[in-house]
Formats: sequence, structure tokens, C-alpha cells
Amino acid sequence: MTGAVVHPLDVVHHQASGQLAVRWSNGLQASLSSHALRCACRCAACEKLRRAGLGPTTSTDIRLMDLHSVGELGLQLCFDDGHDRGIYPWPYLHELSLTPHSGTRS
Ligand SMILES: [Zn+2]
Repeated sequence: MTGAVVHPLDVVHHQASGQLAVRWSNGLQASLSSHALRCACRCAACEKLRRAGLGPTTSTDIRLMDLHSVGELGLQLCFDDGHDRGIYPWPYLHELSLTPHSGTRS
């Protein structure tokens, strides 16, 4: 099974809690919080902050507002602080699913 591409079978955005629930093809069930997702954003602006050692700083009551699928690539997530440029490729979301609470990665 190694090397097999894991893909999402089901993605549910829970508006009330801001959780993004993903069921993966390898059986993994993940629930990603808005805060974890926002902290893990890899858009140019967030990467710039990260390189400056500032990390993406965000309050814990951040809410995921909306999501758009980006073809086969992954998801574009829109947060209620107006931050809506982050593209989350599926492999990256799967990685986050395995480490749901790691806001910062080195
Ligand atoms: Zn970002």
C-alpha cells in the first residue's frame, strides 16, 4: 500500500463548530479545527510571516467560513478574518489529519 495516493472520500464543513471533517480513502477519519487549518496556511502572506519567525498569528475563535474545491488539487479555505487565499492540497490536508494539533511545523 505504500506510495498509494490517499484521496478524500468525504469532506464535511461543520459551520457551527468550524471543524472540517475529512474521511480519507485509507480509512482515516479526521476533524481539523479552523484554528489548526488557519495556522497551517501556506499562502504567500503566511509563509512570509513564518519566515520572519512570526508564524501566522490568529485568535483561537477563528472560523472557517467557506471552502472551494480547486479541481483535483485540494481546497481553498476562506476564514472569517478575511483570509481567503490559502490553497490546501489534499496531500497536505492528509498530513494535517495525521497531526491535527500541530499549528506550527518546522
Ligand atoms: Zn495564509
